[in-house]
Amino acid sequence: MATYKCFKCGKKTTHSILQKKFLCSNCGSKIFYKPRKFVVKIKAV
Ligand SMILES: [Zn+2]
Repeated sequence: MATYKCFKCGKKTTHSILQKKFLCSNCGSKIFYKPRKFVVKIKAV
């Protein structure tokens, strides 16, 4: 199971949660990154 970290507040979020809603449950940010590998940026229009 992949874990992502919110780019803004640093809250950890699991992949299963992001599949439902790609939003940080803490601050509402849509920018996440995998702590180990690469940055994931998704911009909502
Ligand atoms: Zn956040």
